[in-house]
Amino acid sequence: MTAPGAYDVVVIGGGVTGAGVARDLSLRGLSVLLLEKGDWGAGTTGSSSWMIHGGARYLEFDWDTTRLSCLDAGHIVTIARNFVYRVVFLVPVMPHDRNNIERVETFMEVYDRFQPLKKAHPHRRLTAEEAREAEPGLSPDIVGAVTTEEWGVDPHRLVFANVQDAMAHGARALNHSRVTELIRDGGKVIGVRYRTTDGSTSEARARVVVNAAGPWVPEIGDMAGVRVQLRPAKGIHIVYPHRISNFSLFAESIDGRDLLMVSHAGFTLLGTTDDDFYGDLDSVEVSEDEVDYLLQGFERVFPSIRDYRPVRTTTGVRPTLFKWRPYEDSLSRRYEIFDHASNGVDGFVTIAGGKLSMYRLMAEETSDAVCRKLGHEAMCSTATRPLPGNESDPEPAAELGLRCGIPALAVVKLQSRHGSDAEKVLDDAHTSRILCRCEPVTEAELVYAARHEQVRTLADAFRRVGIAAGPCAGAACIIRSAEVVGRELGWSATQKFDAARDFVRGSWLGRAPVLNQAGWAQEELAQGVMRGLTRNHAAR
Ligand SMILES: Cc1cc2nc3c(=O)[nH]c(=O)nc-3n(C[C@H](O)[C@H](O)[C@H](O)COP(=O)(O)OP(=O)(O)OC[C@H]3O[C@@H](n4cnc5c(N)ncnc54)[C@H](O)[C@@H]3O)c2cc1C
Repeated sequence: MTAPGAYDVVVIGGGVTGAGVARDLSLRGLSVLLLEKGDWGAGTTGSSSWMIHGGARYLEFDWDTTRLSCLDAGHIVTIARNFVYRVVFLVPVMPHDRNNIERVETFMEVYDRFQPLKKAHPHRRLTAEEAREAEPGLSPDIVGAVTTEEWGVDPHRLVFANVQDAMAHGARALNHSRVTELIRDGGKVIGVRYRTTDGSTSEARARVVVNAAGPWVPEIGDMAGVRVQLRPAKGIHIVYPHRISNFSLFAESIDGRDLLMVSHAGFTLLGTTDDDFYGDLDSVEVSEDEVDYLLQGFERVFPSIRDYRPVRTTTGVRPTLFKWRPYEDSLSRRYEIFDHASNGVDGFVTIAGGKLSMYRLMAEETSDAVCRKLGHEAMCSTATRPLPGNESDPEPAAELGLRCGIPALAVVKLQSRHGSDAEKVLDDAHTSRILCRCEPVTEAELVYAARHEQVRTLADAFRRVGIAAGPCAGAACIIRSAEVVGRELGWSATQKFDAARDFVRGSWLGRAPVLNQAGWAQEELAQGVMRGLTRNHAAR
């Protein structure tokens, strides 16, 4: 038995890795506290390309990562089947590309051997005409194309489903709770001190503390007096609030790197860069040069790309393991688990490196290491046990929509986040109102998130239900969202205005690098509306 305020394990970091570890250990019957300084999935996980993929590219230099990713992706798409969707890529080949079509096809033939592990289909080779028939926006100069298939997922919801399941099995999970210090007893780590957003500080004792802080792993390591060296690498995406193509596309960048345009359910991510990062992890900015680099690479295979209007950018820093010399792009995506007892610091375990696509395996092996330390014998069950909302098939969207009086598209969106629990979400609030005219998010889902899903800010609501993710980028719905969330959380009128203003300001940094004329006009309008509302409110 552990005393109140004492746990078997404290996990630091509520990205996909930490959430996965918390779920695994809770399912094994250990008492767990999971702490996240921001919001669930708001670190690197949320700024990924949103793909559970095998990493065909790594076949060239890191075969085993491709194998493990495909293997674990197979488990993830089984336990999260209501949350994932197929993403079909065209790999167009241009004259003078780094790889000619024969090489690209040979490459995909090898990758095909791994595809069954993740329940994906083998490649097909297309003539230039076939490829342009499938995607007429492709350049007339392409010499042919090859198809390949991956899986898409909303990483914020994937993280939250892991958090939910951990809590359902007894874990305590706190977002907006920053670990400020590790409590030591001689060399041993025996707990953590953490601060919540209201400024109060608490302590939690633990038999083992797990450092799952992604790119912040070295910072947490410093608190324990151990050195964990990473080679953090920054990546950006351009976000379009709609599908540009029904296919996802590969393109070659000016320096020969593979770029991706990923067609997700209702939006497109175009990325990514991969650059050594030396700056402040809590304030990573996107430059216009990075945006131009991506557009330049894409306009070669998809000449009209600059005609589409992006709404924002995202950026994150990969927690890559340290290695001297290779280019960032060629760094291994492997992971490593460190039991710091070997550095004289017992009670402290770090998980570093890896990928979203193999988070479950990383969590399993980290949990195995923790259980070994605690002499706790319990098997991992996360490879087969469905995540919440994936235990059964969801009701057909059209039927549920008809019954609840909401459009089928809104139901599809809801089910992509809640799976078979969608009906429970709709039953909670009894409103069929849609929040925004450009993104079919139901008011009921937002109410549910505020009541049951640890939403504390409008940015949390953006991650949980996708408010302000559509073309309006919040201009048409952020005030309404503040009203709904504020009503649930007991905010005053001033707090509602402040929340909306903070959201608009917070999104600004990610929007500025991609604003074109129409975008600037919309931004002026949104900022002006906020200023006007705040002034009116202050004058009252
Ligand atoms: C541009 C880009 C694209 C990518 N695309 C893909 C992809 O499509 N597929 C794929 O498999 N992988 C992809 N990756 C890699 C993948 O996103 C990461 O490997 C993975 O998400 C890392 O998860 P994590 O939980 O380890 O780190 P994070 O998600 O960063 O989580 C760590 C958490 O720790 C928290 N934290 C830090 N310090 C403290 C503290 N003191 N107290 C409490 N909490 C703290 C942070 O707030 C953060 O939320 C991509 C990465 C990038 C950068």
